[in-house]
Amino acid sequence: MKPKERLAIPRQHPKELSPEERIHNFKEVTFGFDEETAILEANRCLQCKKPACIAGCPIHNDIPAFIALLRERKFEEAYWKVRETSTMPSVCSRVCPHEFQCEGSCVRGKKGESVAIGMLERYLTDWMVANGKNMYRECAQANGKKVAIVGSGPAGMTVAHILSHQGYQCTIFESLPIFGGMLSVGIPHYRLPRDIIGAELYALKHCGVEIVYGTTIGEDKTLAQLRQEGFASVFLGVGAHESRKLGIEGEDGTEGVLHGVDYLRRVLSGEDLDIGNRVVVVGGGNVAIDVARVALRRGSKDVFLLYRRTKEEMPASKMEIHHLEEEGVRIEMLAAPVRILQENGKLTAIECVRMELGEPDASGRRRPVAKEGSNFIIEADAIIPAISQKVRHNADKGVELASESWGTYRVDPKTLQSTSVEWIFAGGDDVLGPQTVAKAVYQGKVAAESMHRYMQGIDMLEGRDLTCYMVDW
Ligand code: FAD
Repeated sequence: MKPKERLAIPRQHPKELSPEERIHNFKEVTFGFDEETAILEANRCLQCKKPACIAGCPIHNDIPAFIALLRERKFEEAYWKVRETSTMPSVCSRVCPHEFQCEGSCVRGKKGESVAIGMLERYLTDWMVANGKNMYRECAQANGKKVAIVGSGPAGMTVAHILSHQGYQCTIFESLPIFGGMLSVGIPHYRLPRDIIGAELYALKHCGVEIVYGTTIGEDKTLAQLRQEGFASVFLGVGAHESRKLGIEGEDGTEGVLHGVDYLRRVLSGEDLDIGNRVVVVGGGNVAIDVARVALRRGSKDVFLLYRRTKEEMPASKMEIHHLEEEGVRIEMLAAPVRILQENGKLTAIECVRMELGEPDASGRRRPVAKEGSNFIIEADAIIPAISQKVRHNADKGVELASESWGTYRVDPKTLQSTSVEWIFAGGDDVLGPQTVAKAVYQGKVAAESMHRYMQGIDMLEGRDLTCYMVDW
């Protein structure tokens, strides 16, 4: 096919459940491509000599190579090409914010629409499942060394995956009774079906990874105790699970005030939580959108977002915003809460203020400024601030572990080794702050390599590929 012909093919869009079909359940919203659509979309790739998409992918997947194989219908080979770099393509293909990562760098996006890289990756993983193909690598001979991993999110999963395939006996300690970190208790089923997470769990068990649920490191057992029990090295992948607060009157102790990730964890863990009909979600990121869409699916009739800037400045992905609005959630822009009103300890209403956009701030976005005298009241049954999260420091109790002033663990950025305790490594949201699955996977890969070098007495940096550190993502 000539480049001109490739350029003439429009981007293919997946089918989706209609809003009416999906707002009362947790069924997956987006369907995968069928074979012919996948081939057509793959034919849009220009196979650039200097592929910007690879640099845009936090895991550095060889995107042109897997797309070239896909369009030759070598689906199994294409899948394994992705697996050379990614531990969990079934997850990443569904939840990565592709528009800001690989697809955001695709040259086709400069003068039109980028190649649907995420959907193509998803096609491969779905094809492997549908055709009953083996998706597991061979396990290695045990090497006699034990590794402890704290947290079963994508960072911890990646460390366990890589080190167990190198012969280390890995044990994951997880506070919750559920596996998967934010994949299970943050990202709702309609974006990431639970059988996908189940397959990741199975892949780890397949190579002998042990998972100890309901054990909070720092409370039920300390890091020092793990060391005494013979774990040669420990990985901290505890994420960022503490909700940031609005810091307004009435936020603490009022019934009807819940915080974003706490609400999601409770609902997605199976709690039958009724928060009433009128729900105000505060924030403009993906977490706020997930909260609003989950509240809708849990039966709240009137759900809306309160956001202090305009829709253009919302950090959430365009697709998520589109789905949110399709489902009937309103976005109340240029407004912020200033006080929570209550009667007998129960929320009745929220006092808000109108905002206007001033000069750009450090993030480059125009700073919202409150308009004097513009206060107004919104009656509500529940308010759910979903403005960000920070690291909860319970794991490191009893160990002097260096942290940054904003609360993340301080590590050597090239190796992810703690700067204060040499047998401890950390990565994912507890080092980066709330970020993405792909970045957690990438840091899991870096940490696993470092832990291996540390345990085998190999130089931490010699001969190591550090190209990813040069990429600004
Ligand atoms: P986590 O996934 O947070 O896992 C940490 C685990 O450690 C948890 O299971 C926790 O219970 C456990 N833990 C904590 N402390 C202890 C302790 N002391 N002892 C034992 N266990 C402990 N990213 C995307 O790329 N795409 C998305 O669409 C997306 N959507 C998101 C939606 C929501 C609502 C949220 C909250 C996040 C979303 N993210 C998304 C971000 C993504 O989920 C995280 O960046 C990623 O999960 C971080 O991985 P992690 O392994 O560092 O930590």
